[in-house]
Amino acid sequence: MAEQLRMYVDGEWVEAHDGATFDTIDPATAEVLASVPRATGPDVARAVAAARRSFDQGRWGSAVAERERSRLLLRMAELVRSQRDELVELEVRDCGKPLADARGDIDEVAFMFEYYAGWATKISGDIPPVGPDAMSLVVKEPLGVCGLIVPWNYPMLMAAQKVAPALAAGCTVVLKPAEQTPLTALRLAAIAEEAGVPAGVVNVVTGFGPEAGAPLLTDPAVDKISFTGSRDVGVMIQRTCAEQLKRVTLELGGKSPNIVFADADMAGAVPGTCAGVFGNQGEVCSAGSRVFVERSIYDEALDAMTAEAAAIRLGSGLDPATTMGPLVSAEQRDRVLGYLEVGRAEGAHLAFEGTAPSDPALANGYFVAPAIFEATSNDLRIAREEIFGPVMTVIPFTEVDEVIRLANDTEYGLAAAIWTRDITKALRTARAVRAGIVWINDSQPAPSEALWGGYKQSGIGRELGPYALDAYLETKQIYINLGAS
Ligand code: ADP
Ligand code: MG
Repeated sequence: MAEQLRMYVDGEWVEAHDGATFDTIDPATAEVLASVPRATGPDVARAVAAARRSFDQGRWGSAVAERERSRLLLRMAELVRSQRDELVELEVRDCGKPLADARGDIDEVAFMFEYYAGWATKISGDIPPVGPDAMSLVVKEPLGVCGLIVPWNYPMLMAAQKVAPALAAGCTVVLKPAEQTPLTALRLAAIAEEAGVPAGVVNVVTGFGPEAGAPLLTDPAVDKISFTGSRDVGVMIQRTCAEQLKRVTLELGGKSPNIVFADADMAGAVPGTCAGVFGNQGEVCSAGSRVFVERSIYDEALDAMTAEAAAIRLGSGLDPATTMGPLVSAEQRDRVLGYLEVGRAEGAHLAFEGTAPSDPALANGYFVAPAIFEATSNDLRIAREEIFGPVMTVIPFTEVDEVIRLANDTEYGLAAAIWTRDITKALRTARAVRAGIVWINDSQPAPSEALWGGYKQSGIGRELGPYALDAYLETKQIYINLGAS
């Protein structure tokens, strides 16, 4: 019998109102890890009401001193650090990623709470000049109740990326983790409870998108939705939220260009490019999955990237030797395998395909080996559609202007990576690429102090750094008449 977990609503650990549950599984073995409540409308309504009450009664937000909020966020960070090994293992088991990757995630979660603990005491307003007979105070206030809907590729990191700035800003939250990976979100709730965050401030409802996520979009007591996930669900969320003019932050997909110029330091560019596509099994919204390589080094670069991909070791994320785990679910595996068929049918050349692990204990796992396609055109589906798996598409180019045009020839605009030793070329290209994050001689770093978010159909709004706070604040003007009469 799998462990039966409960979800966290209004400071209590509860079942779904009707007792419904679903299983979360280990994608390396397809074995059941735990059973969790299957929340639906009434459960979500209860969580929202709790968040509303705690916000309106000032149990957080405006009535709780900033110092106290800061202290509680720091305490949460400490608890994450002290439970690091357990959280890492839980994350590996639930979503499949290798241990080293999960360690990176959990450490960043702890830092994220430390970072935003600092901000809780530094959110200030302004006093714009309005003449001698008046005074205008522009003040920042917490936005209210926030519905936070997160995906399965960085389960705890994505939860922290929204929960930490929301709490620092003084909002109360209902967090809906992905149905594939609910376990660390429940632990985050336990950590909030243990830290002493008041009841109702952090609520976690587990369940499926249309059942447990959708009610957040229509509940009038929710002021804001912050969502990270697929473009199509993002469009639906924006449309639904428009009915009540709910605020939305959307962090969606990408088909990010990774440009390797002939003058790049190949010792960095090759592993960096590969890590940018194959890291986290390719289940990364900012994956540099369209790899443009300057023609004069094309053959050499392709050989080197193939060798790099061939060295990837698939296996259970819990095995320290593993560098690529399983995909998160059978559905995701089938989707990615489908794209391998699409690429072949479109006439792309499959230059490399790795092998699945041979360990019989992993025979039921959702493994997809890394693959490299050569494409002659950016118009192929494998160059246009987000695959969200370990599939690289390599395309040659000749001119700088040409590669900038190709890089921008996408409906997305999340990220881009540029590899060159020429600083002028790097910066000119970085300025010309329409994307929210541009890496030069690197791929994928996402420091919590900086900025995250997409241009075009990769999203709306920004996360991380001080920019995330804006997403959880309203701005008010208080005008004072100082006239003599
Ligand atoms: P993927 O297809 O990769 O699983 P999704 O965008 O479907 O990505 O999922 C991201 C998050 O959005 C998950 O928490 C999921 O449950 C949630 N979600 C999916 N569909 C809906 C929906 N109709 N309403 C609200 N949330 C949803
Ligand atoms: Mg799972």
